[in-house]
Amino acid sequence: MNDALCVDAGAVTEALTLEEQAQVRAVLVTHSHMDHVASLPFLVENVFGRALGPLEVLAPEDVLVSLRTHLFNDALWPDFSQIAGERGPSVTFRPVPVGVPFSADGITATAVRVSHVVPTYGYVLSDEKSSVVFSGDTGPTEELWAVARRTPRLKALFVECSFPSDLQRIADVSRHLTPATLHAEMAKFPDVPIFLYHMKPPALARLTAEIAALGKPRLRVLVDDDALTF
Ligand SMILES: [Zn+2]
Ligand SMILES: [Zn+2]
Repeated sequence: MNDALCVDAGAVTEALTLEEQAQVRAVLVTHSHMDHVASLPFLVENVFGRALGPLEVLAPEDVLVSLRTHLFNDALWPDFSQIAGERGPSVTFRPVPVGVPFSADGITATAVRVSHVVPTYGYVLSDEKSSVVFSGDTGPTEELWAVARRTPRLKALFVECSFPSDLQRIADVSRHLTPATLHAEMAKFPDVPIFLYHMKPPALARLTAEIAALGKPRLRVLVDDDALTF
């Protein structure tokens, strides 16, 4: 929707150039797991001095508490929100409400709790033209899809699909989707294109084949460097 807002920061510093990273003004975090925040410390460092003001990290309070307790804790990485240069700190942490729209760098966002092993939120993102939904990491869930069904101008869902169906038990205990549980979840989805992500790399080929075997043209596997405009 714009170049200034990221959902999660698992590999932002690997995927974007330094100039592109400096355009990022805000990161909406779905949850505290490493594959979603691993590059956040380096993003904060890389944009410092290049950007006009602090990078804003936004998430509901329980996610921010986890990030500040376990990552930006002066042991794994400095708490840069407490270290101010001439232009102020390089990062600020902003708690956002759950279920109530808030503004994030020109985008209206709503956090909706989903079903994962730590506090995790999907996000509905809207501008004046369109809306999209990001699932975050989740197993089968209800509220996010109910919100999606009543979201106007919805253009796409971005939905996790982590494990192939022979790892269903792992997916269930770690609260993720497989093509089988995704297929069941689709009954709750509004009728828009579905972009799948969060495939576990060793299982990518099997996952892609299983998804194709579902025979659902609305499903598309998101690959690195895909650029989509809504
Ligand atoms: Zn997770
Ligand atoms: Zn994850």
